[in-house]
Amino acid sequence: MELNLEPLKLKGVREERPLVISGPCSAETEEQVLNTAHQLANKGIKIFRAGIWKPRTKPGGFEGIGTDGLRWMRRVKQETGMLTTTEVATAKHAEEAIKAGIDILWIGARTTANPFAVQELADALKGVDIPVLIKNPVNPDLELWIGALERINGAGIKRLAVIHRGFSNYDKTIYRNLPQWHIPIELRRRIPNLPIICDPSHIGGKRELIAPLCQQAMDLGFDGLIVESHCNPDAAWSDAKQQVTPDILDYILNLLVIRKETQTTENLSELRKQIDECDNNLIQELAKRMRVAREIGTYKKEHNMTILQTVRYNEILDKRASQGVLCGMSSNFVKKVFEAIHEESVRQQMEILNK
Ligand code: PEP
Ligand code: MN
Repeated sequence: MELNLEPLKLKGVREERPLVISGPCSAETEEQVLNTAHQLANKGIKIFRAGIWKPRTKPGGFEGIGTDGLRWMRRVKQETGMLTTTEVATAKHAEEAIKAGIDILWIGARTTANPFAVQELADALKGVDIPVLIKNPVNPDLELWIGALERINGAGIKRLAVIHRGFSNYDKTIYRNLPQWHIPIELRRRIPNLPIICDPSHIGGKRELIAPLCQQAMDLGFDGLIVESHCNPDAAWSDAKQQVTPDILDYILNLLVIRKETQTTENLSELRKQIDECDNNLIQELAKRMRVAREIGTYKKEHNMTILQTVRYNEILDKRASQGVLCGMSSNFVKKVFEAIHEESVRQQMEILNK
């Protein structure tokens, strides 16, 4: 399904990279919300996040302050002029958030993974004009992520963006949630005009990883960053380890190197020409190789030989892998390429055999 999208057009927010959203994981007290918000506003942050309803892995943790917190968010708007955003997981959350004047909604990772919940939200948002940010589902499933976009877009929400917050993993890694960058990159290829916001707090799970993850996201050409911040991070009621002070956030943002996506320098286009020429030669050579493979196919047919000659196949893989290593490529990569080439040769020979 083709998405019908419009630019986010956020009031008072300049259209430049990165679009920055920040604020605490959870709204805890009126004082914590207002204190954090004022500090962020002083640093030039334009969009304030805070979780009002919190999806916790186990019962018994802090499950969010609930409806009371919406009043604090309204104060943030009035006193700082920032836009506000919060997570909604049910139709009731969405209705309450909209009624309280929340400017942007986000759908959390656990909700995106559940089509019933996403559809419920979509139905609640029919006829409402509000930007919605959709986090990736907890599991690495691009179709499920796109499915959620389609459901929300199907309700008439055209101002959409996604948040890349990493994917859960059973094994311990340095990340809380594996970035699996290829998934948002593939999403960008499939839906090029959809803004991608990176959430280094939930990917990294710890403060030290926020700066490098922000830089990686910018180097990949992502559009924005959503970073958890707190006036007293160590005392946070949820996700304490991954929150930074507004001061540290400002420091991290100032150190970012923002590279332009399109480099039109002469050198680059000269190099690209060379790449095009290499690719052209590769295709020509591959086509030549396939012609020979088809001839071999005819020979095998006439002599009643099987198409797959395992010894020969292994010989090709080993020989080319070691040659590739000598030329500075990984043997794994070369093997993969030759596996794919061999697969196509076999397919072409099968065609001959079945003629
Ligand atoms: C959050 O942003 O605080 C949150 C709960 O995120 P996620 O849905 O990515 O776990
Ligand atoms: Mn959080």
